[in-house]
Amino acid sequence: MIPIDQRVIIAGAGPVGLLAALALAKQDVPVLVLEAEPMLAHDLRAGSFHPPSLELMAPYGITEEMQAIGIRVPRWQIRDRREGVIAEWDLGLLADETPYPYRLHLEQHRLTPMIHRRLLPIPHAEVRFNARVVDLDQDADGVWVVVETPHGIERFEGGWLIGADGGRSTVRKLLNVEFEGFTWPERFVVVSTTFDFAQRGYTSNAYVADPEQWAAVFHMPDAGPPGLWRMAFPVPVDESDEDTLAPDAVERRMQYLYPRPERYTVRYKSIYKVHQRVAKEFRRGRCLLGGDAAHLNNPLGAFGLNGGIHDAMNLAEKLGRVCRGEADESLLDLYVRQRRTVNIDYVQEGSIQNLKLLTERNAEARRERFEELRRTAADPGRAKQYLLQSSMIASMRRAAAIP
Ligand SMILES: Cc1cc2nc3c(=O)[nH]c(=O)nc-3n(C[C@H](O)[C@H](O)[C@H](O)COP(=O)(O)OP(=O)(O)OC[C@H]3O[C@@H](n4cnc5c(N)ncnc54)[C@H](O)[C@@H]3O)c2cc1C
Repeated sequence: MIPIDQRVIIAGAGPVGLLAALALAKQDVPVLVLEAEPMLAHDLRAGSFHPPSLELMAPYGITEEMQAIGIRVPRWQIRDRREGVIAEWDLGLLADETPYPYRLHLEQHRLTPMIHRRLLPIPHAEVRFNARVVDLDQDADGVWVVVETPHGIERFEGGWLIGADGGRSTVRKLLNVEFEGFTWPERFVVVSTTFDFAQRGYTSNAYVADPEQWAAVFHMPDAGPPGLWRMAFPVPVDESDEDTLAPDAVERRMQYLYPRPERYTVRYKSIYKVHQRVAKEFRRGRCLLGGDAAHLNNPLGAFGLNGGIHDAMNLAEKLGRVCRGEADESLLDLYVRQRRTVNIDYVQEGSIQNLKLLTERNAEARRERFEELRRTAADPGRAKQYLLQSSMIASMRRAAAIP
């Protein structure tokens, strides 16, 4: 067994930190996860899992558990608010590429307990809550983190540190790593309703273009059938959070998307700032970044957490080999090359393109783009290529091909 002073310390018990911990612990690498909050987060964020993420989590039994309560989404649509369906994509075209030819919808806060539960019985895996990383240091042999706890400051030693502490990552800031990119001026409001959009011809995932108010629509399992329909809408720069979240304003947005005589029953609503940023470095010596700590993108395309899962598994496989002395630490630079490159080329590029498609104001450009999408969807060969990209299979293959 690897000595405890060579364990991997992980800042953040979000899905990325927990998955990296599980994948390392299963290779007999001791891990310590430090989470600032008193419990796992319960916020409504990611909820759409792509085939490669399901493949990566399957060996741990997580995918099977997710499938039991998640919603399978074999088809999804691009729509125009006025014209209706522009293109409908059938992931069945990927049946010979993946054992999971669908998106799986499940709330992020239902995934994290599944991973945490699998870590609990492993003797060399520890998850500490109420443990906020506030400082770090490293030399050629190890890392140290200073942690704020309710009982005062504690110091932990390890061989490596993974910063999986989210978009505002303390680890990234302490390392002084630049977070390159930009923040969109408009925010997003996310609203969950009980109204069943499937009865109105919507697939369980749909993106609705409109120059004034586009929408991203997700059917989520919630506590069980019939589930909830979650929508993301844009919020103009000059609108206050209070105005956006007022019941009449939420109702106006819902009625604009799909007018109906009754009011919508709204279960949840919240506002998010949206960023497109990639850390300039994913590795500084013995410290590595993954997930939102390393990159942020808008949620159109559901690339954020999926990309983080791909980071966690890629990094855990390489770091495991380094910890066991089977590979030189330069293998970790391959993690950086593979995951940083595809984040820039696929995740940043793809999510920005998705947002532009939904918001296009020029009528001619919009018409041309819709025509192109219709032609692509009608041709199984081209539709398959489109699906390989949008389901992140292409980005996984590209990463694996980077030497
Ligand atoms: C509205 C919305 C919808 C989204 N939809 C999707 C989607 O459908 N599909 C998708 O793939 N992605 C989606 N995302 C993105 C996704 O939620 C994130 O990419 C994901 O949460 C990243 O996981 P993470 O583990 O890297 O970070 P987080 O989930 O942010 O976890 C970081 C953890 O670190 C802890 N922490 C922070 N600072 C410290 C510290 N100093 N010390 C110790 N612990 C610390 C935090 O408390 C937290 O628990 C969406 C995001 C939003 C906002």
